[in-house]
Order: sequence, then structure tokens, then C-alpha cells
Amino acid sequence: FDEVSGFDPELAKAMDDELNRQRTHIELIASENLVSKAVMAAMGSPLTNKYAEGYPGRRYYGGCEYVDVVETLAIERAKKLFGCEYANVQPHSGAQANLAAFFALVNPGDTVMGMSLDAGGHLSHGSPVNISGKYFNIVPYGVNEEGFIDYDEAMRIAKECRPKLIVAGASAYARTIDFKKFREIADEVGAYLMVDMAHIAGLVAGGQHPSPIPYADVVTTTTHKTLRGPRGGMILCKSAEFAKEINFNKAVFPGIQGGPLMHVIAAKAVCLKEALDDSFKDYAKGIVDNAQALANGLMSRGFDLVSGGTDNHLMLVDLRSKNVTGKEVEKLLDAANITCNKNAIPNDPAKPNVTSGIRLGTAAVTTRGFNTADMDVVAQAIALLVDDVEKNRDEAMALVKTLTDKYPLYE
Ligand code: PLP
Repeated sequence: FDEVSGFDPELAKAMDDELNRQRTHIELIASENLVSKAVMAAMGSPLTNKYAEGYPGRRYYGGCEYVDVVETLAIERAKKLFGCEYANVQPHSGAQANLAAFFALVNPGDTVMGMSLDAGGHLSHGSPVNISGKYFNIVPYGVNEEGFIDYDEAMRIAKECRPKLIVAGASAYARTIDFKKFREIADEVGAYLMVDMAHIAGLVAGGQHPSPIPYADVVTTTTHKTLRGPRGGMILCKSAEFAKEINFNKAVFPGIQGGPLMHVIAAKAVCLKEALDDSFKDYAKGIVDNAQALANGLMSRGFDLVSGGTDNHLMLVDLRSKNVTGKEVEKLLDAANITCNKNAIPNDPAKPNVTSGIRLGTAAVTTRGFNTADMDVVAQAIALLVDDVEKNRDEAMALVKTLTDKYPLYE
């Protein structure tokens, strides 16, 4: 950060400290990843200077000939990667992509079904504290006793409330989502189906999770989770005709956003090119293999997982049998340089800011190079810390350091 430190040493120090934190910690937050230097370079480029309201070839500003190339590359790569006819790469974030899709498909007051937050859904799928929950009549669905999405119950709820839109997709769900079943439910009641694949986008791109594209009327995503791109969102549609008719473009701009972040769109183009490379398939498989290794390592050391395991990149650890809260475990793992987040488990008896669980994901550690044997060491470190942090902290710390030294970051 030489350019920053010369001018603003106070800020540069915080940036440097954050880089050092990333280097020395094991990152298990399921929604995070570590982008390539090429993605970072695109984000830190002069493209940040450009106003480009509108879309390629139809801008409200002059001088857009080169950013048109950039945005067109991102759009075409997104379409190729996910096998769809329409892509909008302008949403500033996943929540913005979702809001734009809602804005295009439903009107204030309409009934929308979304997965409830405490079952693993996302705030922007209808939580009362989010605009989605304030503007629409939200009817939630959830998971069964075993922690799997209850499709029969979702069908029953849909028949009862007759939603105009059903949202599938989650932030804390460890199992394969059956998009075909959601399509059947939507068809049964004449609803649109929107899939938010933010968490699993990289797995879909790499062939490790079935694609929602053939089943959903619209698919939204973030670009920074398993897809390993810059912070941002996208809207995808299998049918260009439907996208035009509903006018998702208009819903994004001028509907809910102003000028697109062209430097971030350039970084999205880089990430999509990386994901189109054959090596990304190995990466996606590595994420899932590592998640299974971590899940098995934890279960063999007496931890309970919601739904008994994982099919994707994440797992929800139910800590009740260990008599500790999610809040406590987040803190004690942090004390030995393992980063994760506390997370409610389905029907959690604890308060939302305490919780009975933690959510762990393997996208970032897989980028770093960790393999399945390493994941067992991570499980060992977690078990040591949860069992007796005072006694085992140094031992766990040494295990963490061996791994972070073995896989240097951003050298
Ligand atoms: N959708 C899902 C399923 C998510 O998990 C998240 C974030 O974690 C989002 C949307 C929101 O993305 P953003 O934080 O970019 O607004």
C-alpha cells in the first residue's frame, strides 16, 4: 500500500494489519473468499473514475467506448459460464440484485414466499427488518426436524397463501437445493420462481451443485462468495425474451441504482474468466471435498452438525451438546486465529446475538491451497479450543500457524 502509506499512514496501517490478519488466520466464514491479484488489480484501476449510467451502447454519458467493452465482456462471460441468455452485471451487491428482481417481478403488498432467516434464509428474502419484509407480504417456509428443506410443507404453504413470487436460496443451508421441486411448487400456484444462488454460485459454475438456471424465472447471485470475485451482484435469466419483457435492466438502472461501478464490473469480468477455466472445476470440487473432510473431522470429534453433514461448501455446527454458545465459540476460535461466525440453528433456543451454532465454510481455505488432510487438522484445532481453551490454546495456535505458514497468501 505504498501510495496510501505515503499520504495516509494511519489508514495504511489498518490496511496492512488487515492483510496480516488474512495471512495469519484460517478463514472459515462461509460467505468469504480470497480473490486473485488480477481481480484486485481490476478493482483498484482507473475505471473507478468513469460514470456510465445506462448499458453498453446506450449510455447517458460520453466517453464510454472502453467501459462498454468491459461490461460486454463481463455479460458475455456470465452468460457462457452459467448457460443463460441474459445477464446484468451492474448490481452493487447481492442485496441490490435481489431488490431489483423483486422490484421487477412484484408490487408492494404482493405475497412472496421466502426461506425464513432462522431456517437459513437471507435477510433480503423477506426479513421484517429488510425492505423486502416491509414492502411485501412475506410468508416464510423452513426446514424439517432433520434440517432439510421441507418441500411438502412449502407446497402446502404455497397452496394456502398463493404467492406471486417464491424465492429459493439460502445463506446457511448445507444441503443440495432441489430447484426442480421449487419449480413444481411455483407452477402449481402460478408463481414466479427466483433463485438466489449467492452462496453456491461457484459450485454451480464448477459443476458441484445442480444449476438453477433451467428452473428459475430469474437467478440472482453475489460474485464474492464461492465464485471468488469482487464484492458485487448479478442477475441472470435463462430467457432473454423474459428478461426483456420483465425489464430487469430497468429495475437495476434507473430502478434502484445510479452509475455502475465499472472497476468492479471489470473485476467481475476477470473472475468470470477465471471461473470459465477448467481449473475452476477442480477448485469447486476441492471446496466440497474440504467441506466433507471438515464435517467428518468435527463429527468424529463429537460435534453435531445440522442435517448430519454437508453437500456443499458450508456446515452448521450445533453446539448444544458441547454446552457452549455460538457467540462463545466464535470468540474462542478467534483467540487462536480461526475466523468464523456465530449462526442460529433451526429453532434456535438462544437469542440471535448469542446463538447455539457456528457456520463454517471452505471456499477461502481451498483457494489458499488447503487439502482434506489439512481440514482434519483444522477440525482438531477447533475441538481442542472448544474442549478447553485455557489448556489447549497454544497447541491449537501451533496447528494453525503450521497451516498458514504452509500456504502463504498474496506474496
Ligand atoms: N443472498 C444470499 C443468499 C446471501 O447469503 C447474501 C449475503 O451473505 C446476500 C444475498 C447479500 O449479499 P450482499 O452482502 O452482497 O448484499
